[in-house]
Amino acid sequence: MTSFTGAFWRGGDTGFADAATSRLFNHRLPSRRPAAVLRAADAADVAAGVRLAAAEGWKVAVRSGGHSWPAWSLREDTLLVDLALFTRMAYDPADATVAVGPAVRGGLDLDPYLAEHGRFFSVGHSPTVGMGGFLLQGGIGWNCRGWGWAAESVESMDVVTAAGDLVRCSETENADLFWAARGAGPGFFGVVTEFRLRTRPRFRELTQSTYVYPADLAPEVLTWYLSARREVPPSVELAAVGCTPPGADAPVLIVDAVSFDDGPASSAALGTCPVAGKASAATVARPVGFAELQAAQLRANPDHHRYFADNAFLTGSASELVPALVPAFVDLPTPRTFTVLGDFTPLRSRPTPDMALSVGTDLYFAAYVIGEAPEEDARCRAWLDGTMRRVAPASAGCYLGDSDLTVRPDRIMSDAAWSRFRRIRADRDPDGLFAGYLGAPAQ
Ligand SMILES: Cc1cc2nc3c(=O)[nH]c(=O)nc-3n(C[C@H](O)[C@H](O)[C@H](O)COP(=O)(O)OP(=O)(O)OC[C@H]3O[C@@H](n4cnc5c(N)ncnc54)[C@H](O)[C@@H]3O)c2cc1C
Repeated sequence: MTSFTGAFWRGGDTGFADAATSRLFNHRLPSRRPAAVLRAADAADVAAGVRLAAAEGWKVAVRSGGHSWPAWSLREDTLLVDLALFTRMAYDPADATVAVGPAVRGGLDLDPYLAEHGRFFSVGHSPTVGMGGFLLQGGIGWNCRGWGWAAESVESMDVVTAAGDLVRCSETENADLFWAARGAGPGFFGVVTEFRLRTRPRFRELTQSTYVYPADLAPEVLTWYLSARREVPPSVELAAVGCTPPGADAPVLIVDAVSFDDGPASSAALGTCPVAGKASAATVARPVGFAELQAAQLRANPDHHRYFADNAFLTGSASELVPALVPAFVDLPTPRTFTVLGDFTPLRSRPTPDMALSVGTDLYFAAYVIGEAPEEDARCRAWLDGTMRRVAPASAGCYLGDSDLTVRPDRIMSDAAWSRFRRIRADRDPDGLFAGYLGAPAQ
C-alpha cells in the first residue's frame, strides 16, 4: 500500500469532490472527474503517485494553478496530482535566477517577491495564473512581444518522469524533456516539481498610453493598427482590445500601449491613427504602477464566472483580416466579454529558440467570453464559434494557453516539432501514462 506525506482521496472518500475541483478558476466546470486525487507534499509524493497510477491502471493528470480555461486537470480515469503545496520561491543573487514551485501565482506571489530583490520575471497578465501551466505552454507574459516567451527564460526544471524518476532537465541534461516541456503544455509527459527561471532587472519607469474609439470606427482603427504596430518599439506591450467599459452600454475599441522604461516617445505611433481625433478619450504616457495594471487584469477576469476562450495566430493582408475581425470588436455577447489583437512583431523578427513551442505569427487574436449563468452558455458558445469561424481561415495555429482543442482543433506545433514531440513522448512515456491533450491538435 502506497503511503503519502500529502493527502490522498479515492473517488467516494469524504473530501474527494472538493479536492477534485479545488482552485479551478473557470466556474463552467466539466463533468469529468478523476479516479483519485493526490495533494502531493513533495517530489517523493509525486513520484510515488506516478507509480501508483501505473499500478492501478490510471493515467496521470496535473494541476498547478488551476487556470486552464477548459479545466485540463479534470480527466476521467486519472490520478489527479494536485501541486497546490508547491509554492516555494528562492532567489539566487549569484546568478539572478529564481526557483519557483509550479503552484506559485505569477503576479500575486512571484512578482512581489522578485520586486524585493529589484528583479522582474514576465509573469502572466492576470496575477492569479499559476506558473506551472503558464510556463509549459510557452507563456505570454508582460511584454512577451519584446522580451520573448516566458519559457525562453527557463534555465532548468525538475521533472518526475513516467518511470517515476525525479530528474533535472536543461539544455545539457535530459535535453529532450527540456525541449518538450517548453511548449507542449498539457501534452507534457512528466510532472514539473520546480522551475529555475532567469530574471531581468526590474523596470524603473512604466507608462501607459490608451486611445478609446467608438466601435463603429473599428474598420479604420484596425486597418491602421495592422501597419502602425510595426513602428512600436520592443519596449512596449501593444494590443487592440474590444470591451464594454463598466457603466457603458456598447463596446469600444481601445488601443493600449504599456511602455517599459522607454518613456513617452515609445508610444508616439499611437497618435498617428487617421481617426485619432475621433477617440472618445486619449491618455498619453501616463505613469502607472505594475500593481495598477494587475488590478485591471483582475477586474477584467473576475472570479466565479463562466469562461469560453479561443485564439489564433493570424496571417494575411489587412483587406482579408479586417472584415473577419471587426465583428469580434463591435458586437460582444456579454458585458464582460473582451477580445484582444496583440502584436508580436519584435518577437517574430528574431530567431525563436529550439523548443516545442513552434507555431506563431506576429499577430495574435484571442477572445474571452465571460458569462455569469449557465443559461448564457449556449449564446456565449455560439458567439465564440461564429467569431472563430470567421477568423480561422487566417490562422497559422493557436496558443495552447487560450485554446480548447475539444471545440476547435488547430495546429499547436510546426510539423517538424510535432514529429519530434511524438518521438520523445513515445520514448519517455511508452505506455501513455500521462493523460495528454484533451481533444486532438490539428497537426
Ligand atoms: C484569468 C486568466 C488569465 C490568463 N492570462 C494569461 C496570460 O497573460 N498569458 C498566458 O500565457 N496565459 C494566460 N492564461 C492561460 C494560462 O496560462 C493557462 O490556463 C495555464 O494553463 C495556467 O496554468 P495553471 O498552472 O494555473 O493551470 P492548470 O490548470 O493547473 O494547468 C493546466 C495544465 O497544464 C499542465 N500542467 C500544469 N502544471 C504542470 C506541472 N507542474 N507539470 C506537468 N504538467 C503541468 C497540466 O496538463 C494541467 O492540467 C490565463 C488564464 C486565465 C484563467
